[in-house]
Amino acid sequence: MVIIESGGEKITVSRLASMMGISKPSVVELLQRLSSRGYITYERYRLVKLRPKGRKVGVHVYKHHSVLLRFIRDVLGAGEERAEKEACKVEHLLSCDTIMRIQRLIDGRLNLKGTEDVCGSK
Ligand SMILES: [Zn+2]
Repeated sequence: MVIIESGGEKITVSRLASMMGISKPSVVELLQRLSSRGYITYERYRLVKLRPKGRKVGVHVYKHHSVLLRFIRDVLGAGEERAEKEACKVEHLLSCDTIMRIQRLIDGRLNLKGTEDVCGSK
């Protein structure tokens, strides 16, 4: 997952390109799309800034990521590094409902009390 803004830190196109491993034109195209949908503020040659709508989505994706990371690492017993990488790959693909079910499975397996509603859906 790419955190566009962390702790008020703003990020440039070049830095995003190297973080995501894609070309600068691809980053610009992605930013323009996110900008037109109201997730970020982006102007050519200017810094990228998350808007409230974008920040909300970022936090949500991060929660999905945390659940998947715990599942792959703590339940399946995979190593931290691989768990982190694979959680990144699938976090965008799964629905909130599936994430909730995985969360419940983790809690059951690890004998944790109560399931935290990571998605805020219920
Ligand atoms: Zn969700």
